[in-house]
Amino acid sequence: MSGKVYLVGAGPGDPELLTRKAYRLIRTADVVLHDELVSPEILALISRTAHVVNVGKRCGGKHVSQERTNSLLVEYASDGAMVVRLKGGDPLIFGRAGEEMDALRVVGIPFEVVPGITAALGAAAAAQVALTDRRSASRVTFLTGHQCAGRRAPGEGTIPSDHETLVLYMPGRDCAAVAAELTTRGWDETTPCLVVSRATQPDQKILRTTLADLPHASGIPAPAILIVGAVTAQADSTEAATELMDRWAGQFAATV
Ligand code: SAH
Repeated sequence: MSGKVYLVGAGPGDPELLTRKAYRLIRTADVVLHDELVSPEILALISRTAHVVNVGKRCGGKHVSQERTNSLLVEYASDGAMVVRLKGGDPLIFGRAGEEMDALRVVGIPFEVVPGITAALGAAAAAQVALTDRRSASRVTFLTGHQCAGRRAPGEGTIPSDHETLVLYMPGRDCAAVAAELTTRGWDETTPCLVVSRATQPDQKILRTTLADLPHASGIPAPAILIVGAVTAQADSTEAATELMDRWAGQFAATV
């Protein structure tokens, strides 16, 4: 008899942001295949008897290929295991869940998706930003600013607007390139933005800046997310001055 796979969102890091269902499944899984991004506090909830595999992939880094992850899900579930595929944030946002669900569908393995709090929402809550504050944004766009080989440029296909908030996942190390790309696409240099590093985790940092000053944020500790738009103007921040950002970026450059 085949087991079942649960694609579970671990949220942005704070264990208290797990859903009750995620918590129960993490505690009782036979096998857990997890991303690099899942916080140590959440990994600590896994049963000691569970088989745990880190299938995390970092920008360009080779851990376990997506194909191998897909096969592991199928193999463990075919052996009858209750498998939790634990992903940072929400499994359906920039998480390759589509490929994993396809692999399971092909062989008829039952699966269920358990949503989690995506990084954009964790970061917005941490910085107290209303992403769609009706006074300054009528839409919010989630996109990746991934700088890995072959990826599309940040902001591609998006139309800048006075009433839009952009949230860039995986802004990468090169904030200067991201800022240049967005300004080329029509975003004003004075547009306020926030970089939220390790949102909801004990070492969370929030930097308030503008597109023009964004290059100073290069080298911030990963994972980090970038929120661009007028809604960030009133945001809470732990650091605001450019000099502080420079010092901080220098201090942490080696850790990214
Ligand atoms: N499925 C995840 C996103 C995976 S892509 C989700 O829904 O959140 C990985 C990117 O998510 C990182 O490069 C970073 O931009 C963002 N991210 C994930 N966790 C984060 C955190 N705690 N703080 C800031 N950004 C985070």
